[in-house]
Amino acid sequence: MYHGISVSPGIAIGNSLLYASFVPQPWPEKVEEGLQEKELTQYKAGVNAAKNELIALCARLEKSDPEKARIFSAHQDILCDIAMDEEIRDAISGAFSAQAAVSQVFGAYAEAIAEAPDSIIRERSADLLDVRARLLRCMQGQPERDLSALEEPVILVSHDLLPSDTASLNPEKILGIVTEVGGATSHSAIIARSYGIPAVLGASGVTASVRPDTLVVVDALEGWIYPEPDTELLRSYREKEARFKKQREDERVWLAAEPIMRDGTQVKVELNVGRATAQELDNARYLDGVGLFRTEFLYMGRDILPGEEEQVAAYTRVLQAFRGKPVTIRTLDVGGDKKLNCLDLPAEENPFLGNRALRLCFEHPDVFMTQLRACLRASVAGEMWLMFPMVGSLDDLRRAKALLQEAKNGLDMKQIPYANNIKVGIMVEIPSIAIMADKAAQEADFASIGTNDLTQYTMAADRMNLAVSQYYQMYNPALFRLIGQVAKAFYTMGKQVAVCGEMGGDQLASAVLLGLGIRQLSMGLSGVAQIKKNICKLDAPRTAELARNVCDLDTAGEVEAYLKKQLAYIL
Ligand code: PEP
Ligand code: MG
Repeated sequence: MYHGISVSPGIAIGNSLLYASFVPQPWPEKVEEGLQEKELTQYKAGVNAAKNELIALCARLEKSDPEKARIFSAHQDILCDIAMDEEIRDAISGAFSAQAAVSQVFGAYAEAIAEAPDSIIRERSADLLDVRARLLRCMQGQPERDLSALEEPVILVSHDLLPSDTASLNPEKILGIVTEVGGATSHSAIIARSYGIPAVLGASGVTASVRPDTLVVVDALEGWIYPEPDTELLRSYREKEARFKKQREDERVWLAAEPIMRDGTQVKVELNVGRATAQELDNARYLDGVGLFRTEFLYMGRDILPGEEEQVAAYTRVLQAFRGKPVTIRTLDVGGDKKLNCLDLPAEENPFLGNRALRLCFEHPDVFMTQLRACLRASVAGEMWLMFPMVGSLDDLRRAKALLQEAKNGLDMKQIPYANNIKVGIMVEIPSIAIMADKAAQEADFASIGTNDLTQYTMAADRMNLAVSQYYQMYNPALFRLIGQVAKAFYTMGKQVAVCGEMGGDQLASAVLLGLGIRQLSMGLSGVAQIKKNICKLDAPRTAELARNVCDLDTAGEVEAYLKKQLAYIL
């Protein structure tokens, strides 16, 4: 058995899928005279295999997800495009290897389309590159690894999961997730929690011991993984699984509860949205808005950047689902552990201290301006709050606001409408801006505290590095003191403060946040019912006392023990 960190609670029992992202083998550019026939056969076999995959995918998706089925049907047309087929065959006759020919011809067409004046056509370039990747994989005889196209439910076992892998997974077919790396606030963890998929990360050595397609028990309550369990263990875990599901169902009634503390203090419970799944949007009526829309998910797992039109549609969809409730859109936050295929990000020695989020947007103003324009255009569909991530100084905030103004001016010139009541706020996740909160509160309309990064930067402990996980202390009194100061600074200016990091959905920490005066908590859907239930059982004066005591303790360990004891009646 193996042990790791439980990052999304639950029990999962099922067959393993050992997963590794597809990395193409290098291919020769040219082949010797006389081998063209062989190359042509490889190309034809690849096309056939890719076509069969696409036909099967469409058939499978037709009922469950007709929109996706249409995309894969269009991919079949691209695959069989006569003009490209001819060019590929010509290139092969000209002694290019089959893979080089496919790569070049698809690449050239994708590039040409990416230049098209019509943004809808431009965005089709991504489909060409997608089909190219499928075809090349088939030509290399590699099986399908698309996590969106699984037939049977599985336990995903992997060394690591890239955000692009998790961005495409079909949550209905993933019973559990086990990885060798990654911590509680990594993006794989956030995704697993948002789908309610039990997950244990950081279980080193697990990929070497779990055999493909064998039974695995994942205990994501205690962090244990049992490959090929015996009948007795299996029986006891089936019982544990049933108990957990029952408890979750009992809690679900709290989803619809009004989050009001026993003394009548009202709290706002908002949603952290990633891929804006149907499940997330269907539950909009139970929430007070979106406290964090992680827009980076629109950019992940694809070869070209999302265009303005696509972004307008994505933001509009969320605004409409929340019908006039605030939707806080966070501008692009990549870098750090979030890499993009569609943007060349150079490797850095210390990515979390490097060119991340807003800094990266300043370096790529075209990418930033496209997003700002898309946000502004979508703002007419509801109540938009716009939020900049990784603001480290007032310079950052002023520079971002100036670019926003520039985007507004551009739209004004074209008489394109946008809402005139968009609030502009900052994420407080770098200690420097937390310390300067009194000044920041004069220039930002609101703050949202990103406790995942605030913990990492305050404690100087990489949130992804298991070796320092003991130093990544969310319950350290330093964090609560700092959050208390930020809240006070913004409230003094009459501005709102939310918490959208994982602390907001944490049973112990959220009670302290309420005690520090925070009245807006944003979290993944899976935490909403439980936190609402806790809010209804707490009362404001008691949480204030709790917060005072916590800020006076010495260590994270003391805080955790104290909170567990004091809050035992609601846990
Ligand atoms: C945070 O840092 O707390 C946060 C919400 O942002 P992310 O986890 O996406 O970095
Ligand atoms: Mg962050």
